[in-house]
Amino acid sequence: MAQLIKFPNIGKKNFKIPYFSILGVLVVVILVTILWRPLNLDRTMYVPLNSQAQTTVTDTPSSSVVVDYGRIDMLGAKPKTDKVTQSSDVPEDDIAKDELDDLAEEKDNTVQYTISRGDTLHDILNRYNVNKNDIAQLTGKYKQLANLRIGQQVSWTTDDNHNLLSFNWTISSNNVRLFEKSGNSFIESTETMEGTLQNVRITGEIKSSFVADARKAGLTSNEIGIITRALQWRLDFRRLKAGDKFAAYLSREMHGNRLSNSKLLGVRLKNGNKDYYAMLADDGKYYDINADSLSQSFFRYPLAAKARVSSGFNPRRLNPVTGIVTPHNGVDFAVSRGTPVLSVGNGEVVIAKYSGSAGNYIAIRHGRQYMTAYMHLDKILVKPGQQVKQGDKIGLSGNTGRSTGPHLHFELHINNKPVNPLTASLPINEGLTGKSKKAFIERVKSIQSQLNF
Ligand SMILES: [Zn+2]
Repeated sequence: MAQLIKFPNIGKKNFKIPYFSILGVLVVVILVTILWRPLNLDRTMYVPLNSQAQTTVTDTPSSSVVVDYGRIDMLGAKPKTDKVTQSSDVPEDDIAKDELDDLAEEKDNTVQYTISRGDTLHDILNRYNVNKNDIAQLTGKYKQLANLRIGQQVSWTTDDNHNLLSFNWTISSNNVRLFEKSGNSFIESTETMEGTLQNVRITGEIKSSFVADARKAGLTSNEIGIITRALQWRLDFRRLKAGDKFAAYLSREMHGNRLSNSKLLGVRLKNGNKDYYAMLADDGKYYDINADSLSQSFFRYPLAAKARVSSGFNPRRLNPVTGIVTPHNGVDFAVSRGTPVLSVGNGEVVIAKYSGSAGNYIAIRHGRQYMTAYMHLDKILVKPGQQVKQGDKIGLSGNTGRSTGPHLHFELHINNKPVNPLTASLPINEGLTGKSKKAFIERVKSIQSQLNF
């Protein structure tokens, strides 16, 4: 939706002088932009399909690319990029949630949570409806809580009225911080709690649903989440049937009676006659028993050819008209009407319809954690419920809904939260090879023997 600058009647003879001065200014701006571009490449640099997160920021682009994109972008961005954005991308339709999504909205009084990219303690506790005063007290008093790292585990306990009673932060296995409510404030407990590791085997049979039966068997919400994420590309948990079986082998770290951290060493799900395994490797990822990846790869871009980014992901975008912060939850690609739009991964179409200011709108669910959305389309070529493959043509880009020019608005949601699709880390489907494969297969045998029903 970035727009070209419109020059007023510059063709007329009596406008020759302003025309040349504008041209002069333009040349200066182009030069400045060329020099400035390399610092900002990650925002507009085109990265071909299939490239992974690590390659998004290219530090040695050819100079012609810089000039080319620098110039176009400069024109588009002239009166401050953030302010020219005028289209709105809010669909009327929300994606329906299911039981597995609701795991994140647990009613348990104690919640265990693994930190993922972009999380802040404030946001996490807010999402779980923890009393806002308590959140402010805790995060205001203990600034170190701003240093949560991806993969660390936190847990907290509330009373029935959402008041926070205690908060645990597992920095490492022998460094667990405990913050307890005392009066109107929180105090940090200074004792270091020595954790003990326990290996636990949990098995069960599906009677109603995986979530309900796994919980009945003794798995925590957090552990169920790890299992459904590990096998999300192999198995649709909603399709498990009564009589299907599961077995999980876990290493649980206990502090007294309290579970502070759990690691899923391996899991097996028997769906009909088929067995599905997810086994933990040394790299912290899960593979099947043959050391093949359980992941699915994603295209970084939903387009087959180069496209300029006319407006980036911006959770704090200011609406130029209203002055109100209206997040731009995706990335806009300046493509002409009718450009084929491709699904970035295998998945199921959950929405395909005209939807408010989003115009013709498609949303695709990929596994459990990933969702992509494509807006302002000219034509929709898929139907809700349809299974699509990576690279399938799902629509044609357009200018429908509230949009000021032809472009494709593309969103990526991870765990129901919009993230920057240009920089988000995406799964890679590479299996183990060589020595690490050998070691893995050796080790997996002993874990597999724990996964009998
Ligand atoms: Zn947009």
